[in-house]
Amino acid sequence: MRYGIFADVHGNLEALDAVIGAYETHNIDRYLCVGDVVGYGANPRECLAKVKSLALGIVAGNHDWAVVDLFGRAYFNAYAKTALEWTAQALTNEDKAYLKSWKLLYRNDHLTLVHGTLQEPERFYYMVDSDSASGTFALLTTTLCFVGHSHVAGTFIRDAHGDIEYQEAARIDIIPKNRYIINVGSVGQPRDGDPQSSYCIYDTTKNQVEFKRIEYDIASAKKKILAAGLPMSLAGRLLQGK
Ligand code: ZN
Repeated sequence: MRYGIFADVHGNLEALDAVIGAYETHNIDRYLCVGDVVGYGANPRECLAKVKSLALGIVAGNHDWAVVDLFGRAYFNAYAKTALEWTAQALTNEDKAYLKSWKLLYRNDHLTLVHGTLQEPERFYYMVDSDSASGTFALLTTTLCFVGHSHVAGTFIRDAHGDIEYQEAARIDIIPKNRYIINVGSVGQPRDGDPQSSYCIYDTTKNQVEFKRIEYDIASAKKKILAAGLPMSLAGRLLQGK
């Protein structure tokens, strides 16, 4: 089985199109999305429709739930709040019903998906270091857990002794006695200094996770954010990847 796993599209259709196009060259059997399809970008409806058409496994992110009032907006900074209000206006009732149907956890025989952390997933904590990763490892019942939220791609690995290390390698070879928390990075708003879209491939036969990056039409995504009247800073940060 080859999974295409991505997160944090954030209404950026140009980026999502580039990632789906790239996946088409990688023989993906099943797509999985780790949340935050909407918020920040100017094409939330189009991104929701694309994601729906992939018929994928999905979990909700903080933006997805906040836009349908399942999560409080007090959590967000001013720019994110403005974008949430804009997004809530842009979506139809059908779009909102689709968002409301998303759960916080997804699990199958191979993997678990959660946007933030497994402990209190409804609070959307950030996993920033080994300490914050340890709570999720403690609750993990599969070898791999895929997360999003920070928009920074990377892997926490817990070995058989319980020691946790962090790696930024582009390829991770899965050893069954270890446990892995893999942050797939962001399709639509990378924050690790590289403005290219981030996405992952997990091959269960090769026992391997690959991190990929692809360029997309940032100028067009920026122009749409400005034309929609969304905060200027949301357009500027796309070029910086921050
Ligand atoms: Zn996000």
